[in-house]
Amino acid sequence: MEYKIELTSDEVTKKWYNINADLPVELPAPKNSEGKDQLSTLPDIFVEECLKQEMTTDRYVTIPNEVRELYQRLGRPTPLCRAKGLEEKLNTPAKIYYKREDTSPTGSHKLNSAIAQAYYAKKEGVERLTTETGAGQWGTALSLAASMMDLEATVYMVKVSFNQKPFRKTIMQLYDGNVYASPSNNTEVGRKILKETPDHPGSLGIAISEAVEDALNDEKVKYTLGSVLNHVILHQTVIGQEIKTQLEKVEETPDTMIACTGGGSNFGGALFPFIKDKIEGNSETEFLAAEPAACPSLTEGEYRYDFGDEVGFTPLFKMFTLGHDFVAPSVHAGGLRYHGMNAQVSLLRKEGYITPRTVKQTEVFEAGKLFAQTEGVVPAPETCHAVKVAIDEARKCKQTGEEKTIVVNFSGHGLLDFKGYESYLDGTLEDS
Ligand SMILES: *Cc1c(COP(=O)(O)O)cnc(C)c1O
Repeated sequence: MEYKIELTSDEVTKKWYNINADLPVELPAPKNSEGKDQLSTLPDIFVEECLKQEMTTDRYVTIPNEVRELYQRLGRPTPLCRAKGLEEKLNTPAKIYYKREDTSPTGSHKLNSAIAQAYYAKKEGVERLTTETGAGQWGTALSLAASMMDLEATVYMVKVSFNQKPFRKTIMQLYDGNVYASPSNNTEVGRKILKETPDHPGSLGIAISEAVEDALNDEKVKYTLGSVLNHVILHQTVIGQEIKTQLEKVEETPDTMIACTGGGSNFGGALFPFIKDKIEGNSETEFLAAEPAACPSLTEGEYRYDFGDEVGFTPLFKMFTLGHDFVAPSVHAGGLRYHGMNAQVSLLRKEGYITPRTVKQTEVFEAGKLFAQTEGVVPAPETCHAVKVAIDEARKCKQTGEEKTIVVNFSGHGLLDFKGYESYLDGTLEDS
């Protein structure tokens, strides 16, 4: 029995995979609020190469040598592990594999895109990067990547998580990131919200608005995003391409693949290389997107044009959205609180390639506890959503006797996110 399928440094893929080349229908272009369908009307806040990658239809994009080398030095390829302990506990005939993105030094998949974005920024003469962060993983990854590329990083962290997770600030500061609780006094958007609602818990949408504003009037400052945009998913496809090689080594074909969805980047990164096969008619794999009942964009959102942020700085993207002014209930502790969804993931959901599943947060943390007890690894709250859906699928297999192969993208560990687990254990966690 192979419990851990590892690849060598040499096997880090040389190319990112771009699903724009294979989508079943053309991706609706982003628009500005006057209805013009070009990204060229955007303010000059993005790293140029990332903007180019956003709409490219090249099927593969070469990973720069420097980026690939950093992937290798920082631990890629990550292992694919068999969750035998969990299988035994569930007494299921299903086989469960999980892809260990938690083994990244910053604890999640986010570093895969942070390194690429910081690399292109440096090459273009940028000096400082701004961004928002919800749970803190993206701010952490960007702080490390910026530091490695000798750039400054300014991070706007959603206030409720900032207060819940003091050690997130510490790790970002260790990597030389400057962190602000959002809404902050650093921007006009932040000051306006604080004046109206001094105890505003913040939202990812507001933090995005602050980070964008901070990058607006200085060409040496660029804004970066850790999810939602196509180029972020592009960078994350190292994950899915590795999973493919790893499954081939043990001669497995996945029946079900599962990832959680916030903005869609770990889902797309891990699953798009497999969804490609499905689009081409060469696969029967089912693709499940795990999302919180408190923020069910793919399940209950509308497929329409909406802003990416709260205030309406960003272009309009055609996506599943709960409305750009949506704020998840503040009792919600599980992350994944973004109101919208990546445009490619949204399109594939619309076309029937992706099935969303909503899960409630008490059962999410319960699943995380079961995983920790049987496999030893503590999943991030976000990751617990995917784990919960995998457990549900494995339990179904117990009833039907099917020996399905289930693959979960294990997006990150929860070692800096104990607040939610603590509430779960002491019984105060509400089902948002
Ligand atoms: C950021 C994050 C997510 C959600 O973001 P996606 O872009 O949807 O992947 C999920 N899991 C972890 C561990 C994260 O850090």
